[in-house]
Amino acid sequence: MRRRRRTRIVATLGPASSTAEVIGRLFVAGADVFRINMSHTSHALLGELVRTIRSVEAEYGRPIGILADLQGPKLRVGTFAESRATLAAGQSFVLDGDPAPGDTHRVHLPHPEILDSLRVGDTLLIDDGKVRLLATEVGHGRAVTRVIVGGSVSDRKGVSVPDTTIPVSAMTAKDRSDLEAALHVGVDWIAVSFVQRPEDIAEVKKVARGAAGVMAKIEKPQGVARLDEIMDFADAIMVARGDLGVEMPLESVPGTQKRITRACRRSGKPVIVATQMLESMIASPVPTRAEVSDVATAIFEGADAVMLSAESAAGRYPVEAVGTMNRIAEEVERDPTYRSVIANQRSAPESTGADAIAAAAREMAEYLEMAAIVCGTSSGATALRVARERPKPPVIAISPHIATARRLALVWGIHPFVTEEAHDLETLVEHACATAVSEAFAEPGDRVVVVAGVPLGTPGATNMLRIARAPRS
Ligand code: PGA
Ligand code: MN
Repeated sequence: MRRRRRTRIVATLGPASSTAEVIGRLFVAGADVFRINMSHTSHALLGELVRTIRSVEAEYGRPIGILADLQGPKLRVGTFAESRATLAAGQSFVLDGDPAPGDTHRVHLPHPEILDSLRVGDTLLIDDGKVRLLATEVGHGRAVTRVIVGGSVSDRKGVSVPDTTIPVSAMTAKDRSDLEAALHVGVDWIAVSFVQRPEDIAEVKKVARGAAGVMAKIEKPQGVARLDEIMDFADAIMVARGDLGVEMPLESVPGTQKRITRACRRSGKPVIVATQMLESMIASPVPTRAEVSDVATAIFEGADAVMLSAESAAGRYPVEAVGTMNRIAEEVERDPTYRSVIANQRSAPESTGADAIAAAAREMAEYLEMAAIVCGTSSGATALRVARERPKPPVIAISPHIATARRLALVWGIHPFVTEEAHDLETLVEHACATAVSEAFAEPGDRVVVVAGVPLGTPGATNMLRIARAPRS
């Protein structure tokens, strides 16, 4: 099972996609990584989803990444008696400390600290800014608001208070317990929400101790401002455009997206462009042209992955949404302009042996039109440096560690594959050639470039480049 595109697809799981049948169809349609949103997932369901994904992985024999997304200090409304309420512009609406289910007149806001910090005239934005409220009366643990922009609000939708200063800590008690649970069931990536400082990531890395990659979601201006320092600690980045577009002017988001993806490509850290990519497909089997352009832009930027949120988690057309992303990626990557756009944003190798080898591997493979570059990689570091080059030929990462292969499922252009551990270089080269043929990247007799670090199994010691020929059997 292989993909005919380099850009990866992340699909969020939810009520529309939690059965083995739908998860299997999402995978076949193109999902490389599944995201489990801990805002909406119990620990029991988390365990069940991970087991289901692992069984789909076993069925198709291709490593699948699992990303557990921690809620972070995101403010949310409580629930509604009828699971949603429609608010009309001009009406008044109360947020209070009463956990009873809400209706069109009131709802629980389970964050006493905001109710205490709100001032008259402050704006409250619900569901990524779709509904806008203005505080008209505050105090006594409640806020009376006037609806400025109406719409439907459903259970546990997010609330932003851009005008209000509230004391928020990086990880809530819920995040700590969700992190433990996610590591316990063996997810491959942990996403940290509302990262504002490098310490927010360092804290999670200390707990994860390498058992999962740690991804920083950039969704606050504070995180954008300290991006370089955050990237020093994070293993990957998500451009979380939903909250970003609420916390900063919408027109600043596209430039910010470009700056973040470029910074990630420069440093060789995987980057996901996320949120509202095919939003209309929540209710429609076809996207808008503007949405297709949005996905295409991320692909032209050379982002590692594009992501579906509600489209696959709660929409009516989860499989179609993945299929649409798959088609957009395939078509954009086939476009005659694609290679030159990608190459223009390539930065020079860093002055390390690993980067010199990665750059040389790309040049050799492109110049000699080789069938593939095959990386022997223990931690995934070698494969990441080769992917950073965004080479034209396919890149295969062979690793004896399933955890490495699963983590690499997120990375641009990498076809991850688990092989038996090779104890000497000749065996590794044999595995590399055999995999290129068995995974249908090369024919017997084709040449491939093999990249590895010798002695084998030493992470980060990329120092070997070899042209090998797949044997004619
Ligand atoms: P969320 O993060 O879906 O958890 O809010 C993504 C975003 O804000 O874009
Ligand atoms: Mn968010």
